[in-house]
Amino acid sequence: MRVTFLGTGSALPDGERFQTGLLLEHEPRRATADSENNRSGPLLVDCGSGVLHALARTDVGYEGISTVLLTHHHLDHVSDLLPLFKARWLAGEEELAVVGPRGTDDLIDELLSVHEYMQDRIDLTVREVEPGSFACSGFDVEAIETRHSMYCLAYRLEDGDASFTFSADSEAFDALGAFADGSDVVAHDCSFPDEIDVSNHPTPTQLGTALAGRNVDQLLLTHLYPHTNGHHEEMIDSIHEQYDGDVAFAHDGLRIEL
Ligand SMILES: [Zn+2]
Ligand SMILES: [Zn+2]
Repeated sequence: MRVTFLGTGSALPDGERFQTGLLLEHEPRRATADSENNRSGPLLVDCGSGVLHALARTDVGYEGISTVLLTHHHLDHVSDLLPLFKARWLAGEEELAVVGPRGTDDLIDELLSVHEYMQDRIDLTVREVEPGSFACSGFDVEAIETRHSMYCLAYRLEDGDASFTFSADSEAFDALGAFADGSDVVAHDCSFPDEIDVSNHPTPTQLGTALAGRNVDQLLLTHLYPHTNGHHEEMIDSIHEQYDGDVAFAHDGLRIEL
C-alpha cells in the first residue's frame, strides 16, 4: 500500500498545508483485484480545500481515482468535492463513487442543488457506511465513530499485509487506541500543542496516553493548526512520554510505502 498525504492542515490555512486529503494506492499486484462495485483503483480519503490541486501533482491525478471516502462533513474535509466533480467531468472521467458516513447522500444532493449546472455531469455512486466492516475500492475497511463536534468515522484500511489507520478528526481516547493497535502506520489528528485547551481534537499528551503500549510501528501527526508551528519538538516529546514507537509530523506531499 502507498499512502500520500495530500493535505495535512486544518480549517485555518497557514500557506504551507492544504486541508485534509490522503491518497491510498494498492500495490501493483493487487491493483487489478475485483471488488464491490468493480472499483479497485486509487482511493481518495477526504477532500478539503487544496486537495484537488495536490492530487493534480501526483501520478494518479484527479483523473485516476475511482472512489472518495469521507470521514465526516466538515468543510475542511469536503470543500473540494464539487471542484473535483467538475475537473473530472471536463477531463472526461465521468464516473466516481463517494462513500461516507450517514448524511453523505444528502450532502452530495444539496451541494449539486446549489450548482445546478453540475447535475448529471458525472455518474456518481453514493454509498453510506456505518461503523463496522465494509469493502471500499479494493481495501478491507473497519470504521468506528470518533469523538468530534460532528458525527465522524475513523478508518482502518487493509490491503494484503499492510494496515493503515486514519483517526480522522477526533479526540484521542482508549477505544481509538485499541482500534489502531496492530497497524503499521497510524495517521492521527494532532491539531494543537499541549498548552491549548481543546475539545473535539486531542492534545499530544492525550494522544500518547491513548497509544501507550499499542503495537503501532509509526505514528504520523496531521490536521495541524498553525498553533503547532514552532512546537513540533515538544509535541513529540509529550507523545513519547507514553508511546514508544516512531513519531513524526506528516507534511503535504509525504509518501510512505507500507
Ligand atoms: Zn472536523
Ligand atoms: Zn478537520
